[in-house]
Amino acid sequence: MKKTIIRGGLETLYFSGLHHLMRPLVGGVGSILTLHHVRPPRPDAFQPNRLLEVTPVFLEKLLKRLKRSRTEVISLDEMHRRFINNDFKRRFVCLTFDDGYKDFVRWAYPLLRKYQMPFAAYIATSFPDRLGELWWLAVEAVIAQNTRVGLLIDGKQQFFECRSVREKRELYEAIYGYLRSLKTEDELRAVVRDLCATYSVEIASFCRELCMDWQEIIDLAADPLVTIGAHTVNHKMLKKVPDDSAVRAEMEMSRAVLEAALGRRPDHLAYPVGDATSAGPREFRIAAELGFKTAVTTRPGVLFKAHRDHLTALPRISVNGEFQQQRYLKVLMSGAGTAFWNGFRRVNAA
Ligand SMILES: [Zn+2]
Repeated sequence: MKKTIIRGGLETLYFSGLHHLMRPLVGGVGSILTLHHVRPPRPDAFQPNRLLEVTPVFLEKLLKRLKRSRTEVISLDEMHRRFINNDFKRRFVCLTFDDGYKDFVRWAYPLLRKYQMPFAAYIATSFPDRLGELWWLAVEAVIAQNTRVGLLIDGKQQFFECRSVREKRELYEAIYGYLRSLKTEDELRAVVRDLCATYSVEIASFCRELCMDWQEIIDLAADPLVTIGAHTVNHKMLKKVPDDSAVRAEMEMSRAVLEAALGRRPDHLAYPVGDATSAGPREFRIAAELGFKTAVTTRPGVLFKAHRDHLTALPRISVNGEFQQQRYLKVLMSGAGTAFWNGFRRVNAA
């Protein structure tokens, strides 16, 4: 339902041409795109995390279009310089890839090299350390492999049927929503660990199979096109970590570990998950105190000059795998789609 409404809105903005008319008003100075997995489409009917992946064909179309356009693709350092020097002669876009997946190296990296486009990869250091918990994929696996799933909700064991694809999708939505509603990340992890133990899913297997190892990250970092950014150690929704010093340690430790491995200290950070329930004013302040030049959220929006005063609370445009149409992305990058979302507020750092 929600998907249909979003699609309808994007179509209306595109086909009405309204996004062109709105551009001087809402277009800002540039945008940062968020991507996760890049890989060929898979046939499975149950893919609740498909929004996190785009196909290599889609990515290549996007890169080609950017190459032809007047928009410049620049690195995070160059974006930072433009904000500091108030240098906005040309509209820009930054390409960012979160989490450091192996499919990035196989499918996206060759295209970025082909078109010579700078990009950033944000690495949660527990992933190459093989201790990371990609809990959203663990939940997907539990539901995919079972026809009935029991879950401890508010101390009570409840059972859910999930035979058909439709039931599986609904159950995933329900469990995902429940997990995201929990007050702390520790509670969320405890429920998922329990689920994995009950249904024999090894949670560490996902980062082992899907995420780059240290050698791959070291090789990638040697390319001048790449900026390696920090993405915390344990990929927690920081706003759901009660202790300030633990939040600080997540940011600081991931930067120190990356510096030790790569010989270069990352200047840029991405907050895990990154929406308003995962990163807020406390996180923006701590990232600034730690000296990160920029930090990005997943709050939707394009960049305005005013973001100069909020460089650790930058919005991004998610390249959503459910909407792999260049025209949707055009509308989003024009700022028109997100202007409606943000009620025409330019900066949202509260
Ligand atoms: Zn992430």
